[in-house]
Amino acid sequence: MEHSRLTALRQRLKQQRLDAVLISSLPNIRYLTGFTGSHALVIVSRDSAQFFTDPRYRSQSTQEVRGLRRIVSRRSPLDSLGHCGLPRGSRRLGFEAQHTTYSHYRELKKRFPGVSLVPMFDLVEDLGVAKEKKEIDLIRRAVRITEEVLGEVLALVRPGIAERDIAAEISYLQRRKGADGDAFAPIVASGERGALPHAGASAKRLKNRELVTLDFGCRVEGYGSDLSRTVGLGKIPGKTRAHYEAVLTAQTLAIESIKEGLPARDLDAVARRSLRCRGLGKYFVHSLGHGLGLHIHEKPRIAPLSCDRLRAGNVITIEPGIYVPGRYGIRIEDDVVVKEGGFEVLTTSTRDLILL
Ligand code: ZN
Repeated sequence: MEHSRLTALRQRLKQQRLDAVLISSLPNIRYLTGFTGSHALVIVSRDSAQFFTDPRYRSQSTQEVRGLRRIVSRRSPLDSLGHCGLPRGSRRLGFEAQHTTYSHYRELKKRFPGVSLVPMFDLVEDLGVAKEKKEIDLIRRAVRITEEVLGEVLALVRPGIAERDIAAEISYLQRRKGADGDAFAPIVASGERGALPHAGASAKRLKNRELVTLDFGCRVEGYGSDLSRTVGLGKIPGKTRAHYEAVLTAQTLAIESIKEGLPARDLDAVARRSLRCRGLGKYFVHSLGHGLGLHIHEKPRIAPLSCDRLRAGNVITIEPGIYVPGRYGIRIEDDVVVKEGGFEVLTTSTRDLILL
């Protein structure tokens, strides 16, 4: 799969009249080469591809990286590149605009005077959007682990426990069950903290009659899962339960609308319209979902202004939510594969409101 992505990258290079492109984002290097280490740089030209790393990764890169010339040196990857030079005759060098720091950019300018540096957006991200079966299977394994952990941590979700103790348990259990680690720091947000969409997990203790949003995921061989459930402690007022049902309806409608070729913004609109009809539109403050892979947020973006279209092989999250300031938040998130002529929901945990 890495090689077909290298070939596709070369085509993009030609279209953009670039002599070479520099890839510095580690997940993107992994998409292209299979390398899983933490220090590398890749340069791809029309007829060569070079991979730079340091001696800590000598044997690992021998096993993982194929089809690229490997340069292992004590120098930093950028120093090695400066030393080896760009492919002969390079005048236009593309770089990853979203992943290159300003200091890295200045360094490139200094090392390669006379070469135009061309910012490229979503250079590798566009190639990684359609996942291969092997990649989807890894996401599926990550989802399984996350769901097993959800089942177990619900036993701990009781009044008196601190959010961060639940988060710690989530991280521990995901690893114990075979994950590489968390896909992102688990979110455990209870009561009014639930109204902060990315609340993290604090020292706050859970109280009776609160809603608690759990949003977490893990990685298996780099590929992530991402699952959210909102549960209730004790008696939850009817109006709040009705809000939960509204989010669930919006999510169900969106999932049922998934099909290859659909503009991602139209999918977002399905959920947004449904919440707006119930007077809850103003509380839905983020996009409906995102692609899932080596990056936890990747293309396609499922958002009102997205220009992406759904493609077979996309793995996406569908996660509508409402956030009532000072009171509570409700988010339900599932992971779905877009398939030719259909879709498959990878997550199987119940989406009905769980009352503990
Ligand atoms: Zn998500």
